[in-house]
Amino acid sequence: MGYSRTEKETFSPEETMALGVKLGSQARPGEVYCLVGDLGVGKTVFTQGFAKGMGILEPISSPTFTILQEYEEGRLPFYHFDVYRISDEEEMDEIGFDDYIYGQGVCLIEWAGRVAGLLPEHIQVIRIDKDLEKGFDYRKITIEREARPDAAFGC
Ligand code: ADP
Ligand code: MG
Repeated sequence: MGYSRTEKETFSPEETMALGVKLGSQARPGEVYCLVGDLGVGKTVFTQGFAKGMGILEPISSPTFTILQEYEEGRLPFYHFDVYRISDEEEMDEIGFDDYIYGQGVCLIEWAGRVAGLLPEHIQVIRIDKDLEKGFDYRKITIEREARPDAAFGC
């Protein structure tokens, strides 16, 4: 499977969650999903759906203060990272980041641009944008498959 880029529009949190469910149900071992978008745009909403699609029933909490939350109860191991507070990439070595991203589970990383230099050659990018002219609950969700970190994050 090569590079592709798809755009979706959602008009409610439920629709964003449903898109997450769909992608989570299709996720494959070893894939690394990078979630990009400003605070409050819907990254956690999407992730809740994604986890559900992977067969995880427990609620997803934001790992902001722990960097990583692991879920082992789904179809595949699921590793939810939030690297917002990472100050340098060495901090990621301390938690064994490589073992997760080159492992057989599925990783989802919020604020992945902060660890762009540590990402594998191919990533799945989910970019969520608001457009207030189209309404408060409108979101444009761009899905890039098999993208390269340097192209996705400009590094
Ligand atoms: P983030 O994790 O990106 O900081 P959250 O997922 O925590 O953002 O919050 C997104 C907020 O935006 C929620 O309050 C949600 O109800 C609201 N929202 C409104 N419209 C949408 C939409 N189309 N998709 C996702 N969230 C939406
Ligand atoms: Mg969040």
